Amino acid sequence: MPEEIDVIVVGAGAAGLFAAIHAARGATEPDARPTPRVIALDGAKVIGAKILVAGGGRCNVTHHAVDEKAYAGSSSNAIRNVLRRYSVQDTIAFFADHGVELKREDTGKLFPTTDDARTVLNALLAAARAAQVDIRFPRRVTHITRENSGFSAHGEWGELHAKKLILTTGGLSLPKSGSDGAGYEFARALGHSVTERVHPALVPLILPGTHVLRTLSGLTLDTTLILRSATGKVLKEFTNSLLCTHFGLSGPCALDMSRYWRDAVLDNARAGLFANFILGEREETIDAQLLASRATNSVAFLRERVPERLARALVEHARIEPTTSLRQLTRDQRKALASAVCALPLSIEGDRGFTYAEVTMGGVPLSEVRLDTMESRVCPGLYLAGEILDVDGRIGGFNFQWAWSSGFVAGCGARG
Ligand SMILES: Cc1cc2nc3c(=O)[nH]c(=O)nc-3n(C[C@H](O)[C@H](O)[C@H](O)COP(=O)(O)OP(=O)(O)OC[C@H]3O[C@@H](n4cnc5c(N)ncnc54)[C@H](O)[C@@H]3O)c2cc1C
Repeated sequence: MPEEIDVIVVGAGAAGLFAAIHAARGATEPDARPTPRVIALDGAKVIGAKILVAGGGRCNVTHHAVDEKAYAGSSSNAIRNVLRRYSVQDTIAFFADHGVELKREDTGKLFPTTDDARTVLNALLAAARAAQVDIRFPRRVTHITRENSGFSAHGEWGELHAKKLILTTGGLSLPKSGSDGAGYEFARALGHSVTERVHPALVPLILPGTHVLRTLSGLTLDTTLILRSATGKVLKEFTNSLLCTHFGLSGPCALDMSRYWRDAVLDNARAGLFANFILGEREETIDAQLLASRATNSVAFLRERVPERLARALVEHARIEPTTSLRQLTRDQRKALASAVCALPLSIEGDRGFTYAEVTMGGVPLSEVRLDTMESRVCPGLYLAGEILDVDGRIGGFNFQWAWSSGFVAGCGARG
């Protein structure tokens, strides 16, 4: 006979641990009801691998100002509905209660004061222990079956049966951490759909080998990236730090843009990405400044506005002799320079894939769950939370906040 419990949590990452803790203890302690038996199963050999690598090992737990505008995927209303059920203040209070103080950095990101992701994981594991959650690993689930009296999770390790099941298997990002997309198949088998588009998000972008920015590996500067449709309409803009690498582009600006770029080129291959290196300027204003400038040549002009390495590369890209005086520039040369600085075409070839992606774009649509409990609308007794859902956030702690909020709602929902 398979072991019989109250709630199975499949996937003990950020969302799964949070859901398991709250399925066992509810929204507030102490709760007079008997503690439900909750078992969290995870296929990985170590628990919390993604939490430990997050934020460069410091774990960017949340952001001081979280709202639905920082997310994409399912409808903004639905995302807001879940976020408001467990706010940033709730996250701060939860971690404070478990001995982890969070500090806010200038960017608005919140990190543990220890600057060590291990303290975040340890707090979650201690909270799970206190709530009597049984975390079992490595216990990879190979399939889930629905029965009249609940669900069975199966694996090489055996079988487990429960009245309720919370699916928190994540998406496809960083597959070596254990999130390999198996959860999408479980969701489909239980009656859910998965968006047609499931792609890497928060992922570095690849430039052609000959692109001028590939010669500037290591250069970081604040840049505006502009995504335009085939007809030139601005679809998305981000201004943030951009990092040039040996393969292309990384840094928050490129990572934030990556999922929008992918979406746009899938809609129309002629959509394009452009970079503006002088914040707030346009081609016309740079042209006017070139005419009025007293700088000796184009490199001297640009050097006052961008790092010298970039200035030289852009001048070369515009096919202008670095020594040519500004006064000798033709109208076309001025336009070529202004365009290189304010609207450099990025001709992205692709992204670096799930191995380098922080999150997944796409998943199970929020329209298929009840937002007050995260219970499936198509399979009662099943709850979903975290990255398996069609929600992906910007860089800055928004993705963990989604995991905490949706995990909390699912856990409390499954506790009933
Ligand atoms: C390198 C990196 C850095 C990041 N940094 C940050 C950051 O600083 N701040 C931030 O907000 N976000 C960050 N993120 C994103 C964040 O980690 C995710 O949004 C979050 O972890 C998603 O939580 P989840 O629980 O839904 O999924 P996951 O964390 O992916 O957890 C899913 C779990 O399910 C398990 N699992 C999967 N399939 C099975 C199966 N068949 N059987 C049993 N178990 C299974 C996996 O082993 C895994 O433990 C980062 C991501 C990466 C990759």
